Amino acid sequence: MVEELAQADDAVAACVDDAAWALADDELVAALDAAHRLEQRLAAVTLALVREIDGRGTARAQGASSTAVWLRERLRLTVPAARRLVDLAATLDTGNPGIRQALADGHITLDQARVIAHTITTVHTSAGAQAADKAVGVLTDWAGQFDPTLLRKLGTRILDHVAPDIADAAAQAALEADARRANRDRHVTMSTLTDGRLRLTGILDSETAGLLRAAIDPLTAPSGPDDQRCAGQRRHDALADLCRLSLRTGELPEHGGDPAQIVVTTSYDALAGQLGAATLDTGLHLTPETVRRLACDAAILPAVLNSTGQPLDLGRQRRLITGPLRRALVLRDRGCAFPGCDRPPRWCDAHHIRHWADGGDTNLNNAVLLCGHHHRHLHHNDWTVRLTGDGYPEFIPPAWLDPDQLPRRNHYHRRT
Ligand SMILES: [Zn+2]
Ligand SMILES: [Zn+2]
Repeated sequence: MVEELAQADDAVAACVDDAAWALADDELVAALDAAHRLEQRLAAVTLALVREIDGRGTARAQGASSTAVWLRERLRLTVPAARRLVDLAATLDTGNPGIRQALADGHITLDQARVIAHTITTVHTSAGAQAADKAVGVLTDWAGQFDPTLLRKLGTRILDHVAPDIADAAAQAALEADARRANRDRHVTMSTLTDGRLRLTGILDSETAGLLRAAIDPLTAPSGPDDQRCAGQRRHDALADLCRLSLRTGELPEHGGDPAQIVVTTSYDALAGQLGAATLDTGLHLTPETVRRLACDAAILPAVLNSTGQPLDLGRQRRLITGPLRRALVLRDRGCAFPGCDRPPRWCDAHHIRHWADGGDTNLNNAVLLCGHHHRHLHHNDWTVRLTGDGYPEFIPPAWLDPDQLPRRNHYHRRT
């Protein structure tokens, strides 16, 4: 087999050297079909080899804890990908040979094989071996026209075709099994990266998925014509908005006797001079610009240290824009005051126009309401904000955006 694979390798090398641009249209499509088919057939070969390696215990003999872990090292796969490979190899080997054959013949793709194998397992459990055999035939047939997602959906009603007398009861049982699996597999993993960022992965059950979507979708819309964020970035910021909002309600359970909040440790000099770094209570570092933004409004408690490292009490009351002051601010700005933004007040922070660390006062004449995105935008970009003679905020764009730097206002909440 090694020799045959070496020949195939040579053939592939020749294809790589061949110029695709030289092909006529029909040849181009035919070549794509052939390359794809070959990839699937080759996957069948890989799976058979993985299965044999797994069966022989090669991984353990070489000191790895499992075949999946061994494959990670050997083929540089992620562990989940390696595990999927091992599982599918086992399923194809022990299950109905029709699936393996269809993959080896290039009739179905690897993803389709995975869907069919999964469906067949369910059919076998609920309707027995005979129905499972029939189902393999029907599904591999359907695989000629349907992609894996549709195939999976059609597969949920496969019993209608292969065992109609028990289809309804089995569909109900399958639904319950799915619900149990969703309940068991629900998890969220948060792994801290070395630079302080967080990798968030996990699977939400469908109810939680619905909750998250309902909460996050209204916040992921672009916040105005100037919004350059991609969808992923907007979803990220919406999650931050959601956390900020729930911290602001003060209704989260207490954590170690204190209300749930983020504690940021920094030195007063760092805050005032925008030099040096700051530390979150989780031990992560933040830039001074970020801390200045966080220190602007509630939900974040800055533990400010003087030059000898003693906590410096700058007065929480004086710093935060809360109570009657926030209500007055909401009455004046009616939402995010950034030009073009339509976010309502409950999604907004109160921004100190002159930062409190620079001696800015906590009063109406030094405050402006900004949504999380525009608060970040203002702190980290070259926009500036000021109050005009009539007492309303206006924003001056950076010169690179508007060479004339004409002041702009939000006309969404208040028409002028
Ligand atoms: Zn601010
Ligand atoms: Zn905004």
